[in-house]
Amino acid sequence: AAELRGAGKWVLFEESMSKLRDQRLQLDIDLRTAVKREEFEVFYQSRVHLDTGAICGFEALVRWNHPTRGQVSPLEFIPIAEESGIIHDIGLWVLERACEQTQLWRKQYNLAEDFEVSVNLSPQQCKEPNLVSSVTEILQRTGLPASSLNLELTESLLMEDIDQAKAVLHALKRLGIGLKIDDFGTGYSCLKYLCQFPFDSLKIDRSFTKELDQDSVEIEEIVRTIVQMAGNLKMEVVAEGVENAAHVSRLRELGCKYGQGFLFSRPVNAAAAERMLGPKRGQEKHRIGGPTIEA
Ligand code: C2E
Ligand code: MG
Ligand code: MG
Ligand code: MG
Repeated sequence: AAELRGAGKWVLFEESMSKLRDQRLQLDIDLRTAVKREEFEVFYQSRVHLDTGAICGFEALVRWNHPTRGQVSPLEFIPIAEESGIIHDIGLWVLERACEQTQLWRKQYNLAEDFEVSVNLSPQQCKEPNLVSSVTEILQRTGLPASSLNLELTESLLMEDIDQAKAVLHALKRLGIGLKIDDFGTGYSCLKYLCQFPFDSLKIDRSFTKELDQDSVEIEEIVRTIVQMAGNLKMEVVAEGVENAAHVSRLRELGCKYGQGFLFSRPVNAAAAERMLGPKRGQEKHRIGGPTIEA
């Protein structure tokens, strides 16, 4: 009987494995039409100055409104898109959308001089020979100054072909685009190589921020060290996953200047993001007597 039960479990396991494979395959197929059918949407999450709470930029995060499955997480479909190569189309679509939208906001609102939109760039996209010219064209078409664009890359995959990735990143840097290391502290990359890339900022991974309100001396020392190292390398530091006031005060004590997280805002659609930007140019007077939104 025990053997039978074991065999039954095995069959169930096999069934669920093949179900997973089928789902993945189906998502892969659906992804190919999703671009044409405009099923993607760009959401925006604010990045703020931890000292003042003022918004200094947005991170663009793609959302997929699947016709039958509803919203599918990028954590689920980006890896599939990377594997099949469709990430190139999706990535450029997100980039163009985010640049176009940000340029419109720059015209409509009094944004800070250094206001930036950050777009995630899959390291896979660095392997596309036309990446730099595609990015150049998008900046020209949308009119967004290169200095208002930032690209976020995770460290790990960059190390697969260091020379090629270096060449691409230096070319993007020459255009005037800012470059960020995303999820810093979770990869396995060699600091010595990482320093050869022209990054100008880094994002401390959410897993560090999360432990800052738990009196973990070790985590605090790691964060302090990252902030100091970044400062010595003339890099800005953004903390990911800021969820409460304790995170903010610890991060400020540790010298971290910028933060991003649910405490300030979840990623939201463009209409909701816009409401965080304050009054439109020429409409400032309507604020008198109304609620003030400054922190
Ligand atoms: P990421 O670039 O590290 O983005 C941050 C993720 O953390 C986002 O998840 C965001 O919603 C979430 N997050 C932000 N603040 C908090 C917080 O306070 N607490 C918690 N628990 N989570 C927070 P999301 O939007 O699901 O994106 C997941 C990942 O998918 C991104 O991680 C990025 O690697 C990838 N991704 C998203 N959009 C794109 C894209 O357009 N292109 C590429 N290549 N990758 C993308
Ligand atoms: Mg990111
Ligand atoms: Mg990140
Ligand atoms: Mg992260």
